[in-house]
Amino acid sequence: MNVLIVEDERSLSHEMEIYLTRQNFNCDVAFNGKIASEKIADNSYDFVLLDLGLPDTDGLELLKAAKKSGKESAFIILTARGEVEDKIAGLDMGADDYIAKPFSLAELQSRMQAILRRKHGLKSNTVSIHDFSIDIQNRTVQCKGNNVVLTKKEFDLLHYLALHKNRVLTRMQLTEHIWGDVLEDDYESNYIDVHVKNLRKKLSAHGSIDWLETVRGVGYRVNA
Ligand code: CA
Repeated sequence: MNVLIVEDERSLSHEMEIYLTRQNFNCDVAFNGKIASEKIADNSYDFVLLDLGLPDTDGLELLKAAKKSGKESAFIILTARGEVEDKIAGLDMGADDYIAKPFSLAELQSRMQAILRRKHGLKSNTVSIHDFSIDIQNRTVQCKGNNVVLTKKEFDLLHYLALHKNRVLTRMQLTEHIWGDVLEDDYESNYIDVHVKNLRKKLSAHGSIDWLETVRGVGYRVNA
């Protein structure tokens, strides 16, 4: 999943970047509002972590513009303690959550998980697809009591498809959200097919995977 960190305090943005990269997020960083707006316009981020006190822009303006352009990213506002009005304004403008500085990175991550659960209607950190259960916190997959061992990318792929179940995801969307970059040409898009093929092979050793559908000419869908 892709995260944009918008924070001009270099040490803090760097810390977040290192931590979230270790938690398997693809991180991108912007130190000012201008770069942040450009990145938001050009990419599809799953999360935008937004400092309100940027050197060139009011973070709230940035949020407003992103929401207006219909971006689906979840926004978490990073605020200095006590800026109550800003928090309220941010939430009113459609931010998903806020966190007061200084915060622990573990808390930030657990809030991100909570947003994912809310956004995708999950009651716990587990997504069940027929005989398979996918633990999105511990990044494990089980089928009928057995562990299914996947590579990092295979897990990311399954996780993303499962979160967006019953929706067709294009190869481009999957590439963007899992690899973090848009790979333009057709040769590169086969990359996804190869990973899906490997994923299918590993899953089907444990149970039926009729639910993992190829949508010809478009992409893939998890039917649940
Ligand atoms: Ca700042």
